[in-house]
Amino acid sequence: MFLQLTTILLHLALCTATKDVVHLSVRSPQGDRTRPKEDNSAAEVATVTANLQQAVNRIGSHFVGVTIDSQQVRYNWNSFDFGSTKVQNMAKALSPSYFRLGGTAADYMTFDPTNQKGHKGENLHGGQVYCSNFTTQFYMSADQWDILNKFLRAVGWDFIMDLNALQRNTDMSWNPANARQLLQYSASKNYTIAGFQLGNELNAQAVSPAQLAADYVTLQNVLGEFPQDYYSSFLVGPETPRNGDQFYFPRLEADRLSKEGSKLEQSVHPSSYGEEKTLLRSHFRAAWRERLHLGAEEDDIHQLDRKQQVAIFRLRTGHCQLLSHLYRLKISHTDQCPCGTGPQTPEHVLQACPTFDTLRRQTWPSEVQLREKLWGTAASLRPTAGFALNTGLDI
Ligand SMILES: [Zn+2]
Repeated sequence: MFLQLTTILLHLALCTATKDVVHLSVRSPQGDRTRPKEDNSAAEVATVTANLQQAVNRIGSHFVGVTIDSQQVRYNWNSFDFGSTKVQNMAKALSPSYFRLGGTAADYMTFDPTNQKGHKGENLHGGQVYCSNFTTQFYMSADQWDILNKFLRAVGWDFIMDLNALQRNTDMSWNPANARQLLQYSASKNYTIAGFQLGNELNAQAVSPAQLAADYVTLQNVLGEFPQDYYSSFLVGPETPRNGDQFYFPRLEADRLSKEGSKLEQSVHPSSYGEEKTLLRSHFRAAWRERLHLGAEEDDIHQLDRKQQVAIFRLRTGHCQLLSHLYRLKISHTDQCPCGTGPQTPEHVLQACPTFDTLRRQTWPSEVQLREKLWGTAASLRPTAGFALNTGLDI
């Protein structure tokens, strides 16, 4: 892997770069380790071309994220040297990013500002504090909290803190007393905490989904007690734990659907992630309305097959390969249709472009309004999709 990366980097350095396009050639030795390194005669050459003019997608500025398990507090950060200049410089280079302190041990950690570093705290359940078991109680001292917060402030990382969700009242509601103590202490030190999570992979046997939802409301209210400091911090979670839990269900369902879907005939018509998401959302909304006996939605698009849905969706939104859209994205130098009678928009193609006069007459012997073609019943949408696909345009 390292060698391959070196090869790629070497070739990247040597590659030809024009203004907007990078050509990159990579040689692979085809797994023949006996051949001398300098002999590239039988090497396979792959050429990768990257268009730097157009971004496929954008990632957030905080794309890089780091989690350290709360368990490390139990070990008194003994494998982390937050004071190291080297570590700080490397961390700064990754900034901006999120840092999360969380994990299984988060639900066994109690903040105790009076507890001194290295001093064994009294275990709520009578066990040892610095033991290797994830699921025994332990304390986090003010010192341990300070070291982390000062490091995060120094390197410019945004902090997400996973709070202990298993501190509960007898009625099973979350008890925010210790979280409040942590917030009070942190506010007094002007520590910035970007977001909060409540618990780690809680299973439904421990806390019901409904209870956890109520607990998040409690957390939001507690944050509201710190209007200058944590009121505008965001909430994260909950995460999904292992099989058999109620929280696990959405993931299980997604898994089942993807397996089912992969058995179906696959469309060769390419569509973007955004389009797929919109179609799925529309499908699920329709399924929910059906289950709740709300009647069908007025939009018939989900009665079409997937290929037709994609075509209609693109024509409706204008987010397609037609020149009007490509021009907006600065991919094309013009928005004008090759027919020379106007911009190549969905409306132009469906209603006016002389290039498709014959196909249009075959599809709609009499005139049909654009609204009907794009937003009518399934019987109106199908010919529109068929027409679009038959134009040969890359819609
Ligand atoms: Zn035209």
